[in-house]
Amino acid sequence: MLTQRQLFLQYNAQTTLAPLLLEFSRAKGIYLYDTAGRAYMDLIAGIGVSNVGHCHPEVVRAVKDQAESYMHIMVYGEFVQSPQVNFAKALADLLPDPLHCTYFVNSGTEAVEGAMKLAKRFTGCTEFIACNNSYHGSTQGALSLMGNEEFKQAYRPLLPDVKFIDYNNVKDLERITSKTAAVFIETIQGEAGVRIADKAYFKALRQKCTETGTLLILDEIQCGFGRTGKMFGFEHFDVVPDILLLAKGIGGGMPIGAFISSREIMLSLATNPILGHITTFGGHPVSCAAGLATLKTIVRENMVAGVRSKGELFKELLVHPMIKSVRGIGLMIAIEFENFDLNKKVIDACIEDGVISDWFLHCSNAMRIAPPLIITKEEIIKACSIILKNISSSSAA
Ligand code: PMP
Repeated sequence: MLTQRQLFLQYNAQTTLAPLLLEFSRAKGIYLYDTAGRAYMDLIAGIGVSNVGHCHPEVVRAVKDQAESYMHIMVYGEFVQSPQVNFAKALADLLPDPLHCTYFVNSGTEAVEGAMKLAKRFTGCTEFIACNNSYHGSTQGALSLMGNEEFKQAYRPLLPDVKFIDYNNVKDLERITSKTAAVFIETIQGEAGVRIADKAYFKALRQKCTETGTLLILDEIQCGFGRTGKMFGFEHFDVVPDILLLAKGIGGGMPIGAFISSREIMLSLATNPILGHITTFGGHPVSCAAGLATLKTIVRENMVAGVRSKGELFKELLVHPMIKSVRGIGLMIAIEFENFDLNKKVIDACIEDGVISDWFLHCSNAMRIAPPLIITKEEIIKACSIILKNISSSSAA
């Protein structure tokens, strides 16, 4: 009889020729448990998803309750579905003006697609500006915004009219003009290996967009929902976007994404023609119920409060002659090594030792640290000692 692993390789599509092939039967808090019952510390939270920890009891309860009431009943936007209403209202209560109108989708990349269409409709322009080394998703619109030719050249032709600027380069902001529909930018660049811009840069960017009538679209799909030590990344920079993109962590482990703007801007998708953006499963009631439970849990358990000091503890502990730098904000951290080879050796050795991490798409010489926000100081100390041990053994080998 074939094993699950063999069946996976035979019947499931692969995204690389060398998948990790770990097999887990259960997840709880910051741990994943393999089929033999061995615990692995999840230092990447399913890539920035399980911010409240895996299978948080409040999220699981919300999922079960909603699944028993109703699951899918109608395409998004027609029926009044209370899980969608309650989650959108809770988000609006947390967000500043004018971010009070939410369009729910299923994933991060769909939030990007929806926002691209919305920006075109609202401004009447077609030009987009994005950043070098950005990642906004894998569908063709989002891929057009990706600032890394290596990953997109095989899929051309993509959308025309996309220009690229350097992240955190004030001079480049001159390229934003009245012809630019929107600037798409990650508040903290994730796949570039955790790059953090200056406050002055975001201020200048906001001002330039306002002057040119360009929509500022902040992608907080990876950095959002508490990960940076504030609920939303833009709070660090004292700017408010015209459209905010969320996904990953907002569903507490369930699939959901959102683009959020003002009611005025959002109305462009509802008129001339109507049904400007439609989705069957967007804002799935079970995902919205999970999202609301996630949000309430983060607030009630004050999870964001400890994030900064936990991030600092990682930085304090991660000192080794083979580490070139440790960049990060809150629990979104990159450990940079000399090259990919060493990084990969350390990552593999850590997995052997029950600590899961990986590298970044546009920064393959850096190791990703993005654990659930509930990680304790003791767990951080343990994780760092395993990482340091494996840096020593991998660099000696
Ligand atoms: N934007 C950013 C900043 C991301 O990190 C990601 C996912 N890594 C996406 C968009 C796309 O999200 P999804 O994989 O849910 O489509």
